[in-house]
Amino acid sequence: MLRSTKIVATLGPSSSDPAVLERMVRAGVDVVRLNFSHGTAEDHFKRAGLVKDIARKTGRTVAIMCDLQGPKIRIGKFGDGKATLEKGRRFVLDAACERGDAGRVGLDYKELPRDVEPGVLLLLDDGRIVLEVTDVRGDEVHTMVRQGGVLSDHKGINRQGGGLTAPALTPKDMEDIRTAVKMQADYLAVSFPKSGADMYMARELMRAAGGKAFLIAKIERAEAVGAEALIDIMRGSDGIMVARGDLAVEVGDASVPALQKKMIRLAREQNKVTITATQMMESMIASPVPTRAEVSDVANAVLDGTDAVMLSAETASGMYPVEVIEAMDRICVEAEQTQPVNLEQDFLNRVFTRVDQSIAMAGLFTAYHLKVKAIATLTESGSTALWMSRLNCGVPIYALTSQTSTRYRCALLRDVFPLMVKYVGHDREELLREAEKVLFEHKVVKQGDLIVLTIGEPIGKAGGTNTMKIVRVGEHLGA
Ligand code: PGA
Ligand code: MN
Repeated sequence: MLRSTKIVATLGPSSSDPAVLERMVRAGVDVVRLNFSHGTAEDHFKRAGLVKDIARKTGRTVAIMCDLQGPKIRIGKFGDGKATLEKGRRFVLDAACERGDAGRVGLDYKELPRDVEPGVLLLLDDGRIVLEVTDVRGDEVHTMVRQGGVLSDHKGINRQGGGLTAPALTPKDMEDIRTAVKMQADYLAVSFPKSGADMYMARELMRAAGGKAFLIAKIERAEAVGAEALIDIMRGSDGIMVARGDLAVEVGDASVPALQKKMIRLAREQNKVTITATQMMESMIASPVPTRAEVSDVANAVLDGTDAVMLSAETASGMYPVEVIEAMDRICVEAEQTQPVNLEQDFLNRVFTRVDQSIAMAGLFTAYHLKVKAIATLTESGSTALWMSRLNCGVPIYALTSQTSTRYRCALLRDVFPLMVKYVGHDREELLREAEKVLFEHKVVKQGDLIVLTIGEPIGKAGGTNTMKIVRVGEHLGA
């Protein structure tokens, strides 16, 4: 069964063995995520090379996403690696402290004392520990423990409601962008952006290094979720990640489900891609089957219209990195079967004035009404496939391209299946024959199937899809 929703899997110790990684890819991984919060550039290079080898061997399109660490705001170290904080006691976050204990700890983020005032709630370790600021004295933030527990080295700090001034790109991120470009990453995810400007900065740095990856903005700050900020960020990005881990800490966990729906809807309207991330199959870190709640969560993300669902620790450090892909695959496929198609209604909210976009929409509409077997779009940049995939018409979209970079970027798009067409000449008939051959070879169509095809004419002129054809396969695709 064809799966329209894509699967992103984070790599780590559990997925480093080539045999395991190959089984994961065969089970359905579309994009691997290299998490730059862990490991060295060399580790990531090795992993990327392995992924490329396995993709070649299996014939599957597996794209690479590098995820920058960003200004994750963290505490420093304890003398014993950890300490127990007791509710109702005082605790000091002290930028000058080297070795922490049950009464105080240092800060990797030295600016914290300037970003808080009495009354602010600080959430540590994904909200497991809550501190209320009572006083700021020089480099020291004095707090009262509102919720206690064990705190260990370098755990993250979030400020409830947002408001930390750390810039989105750290010097380490700038170095990591160069690493991502060197390994020819297909996507680059930026952590904690607050505005479109953060994304423009990332794009500039990437371009300067010679890269052209798609940019994904991780939405995980309170400042980023208002409609205006979201649209500003999306303008500077190719897609967004609903980064539910940090987001839940900043805005409160109960706000996240509605935000997820809003973000996915807005992104589709803006022709952007979405990844829904964090704790989707959390229990499968240690269990061979998901919980009922996790099954529902993945299925609901599919029904919300996400392009991709993401796995973090489940595949990076969990015990069942292959089984979790298999489980996600079957949940997505089944949820897609029940997804309603409301193309006429969806069209009501769309405005398009470009010729190529109009052909894309016409192709979609025709495919839906004629209930054709497939849409085949000959695309160099992937734009027609992107536009078509922003609305659900119930027909798979095959992006036929001669560009390797386009093939990999399409890996994340819902409903889109990229295929390479090697033809580089200028002869329309030859190109169409070649396209038909590829569709046959991949068993997308058989003799007699009806398909919708889009193409730009004259052939060889970049950009400018301007033609739609309805074709009975085997009868004159090329005539
Ligand atoms: P992270 O991002 O795993 O890099 O923190 C995802 C999230 O915050 O949900
Ligand atoms: Mn995060």
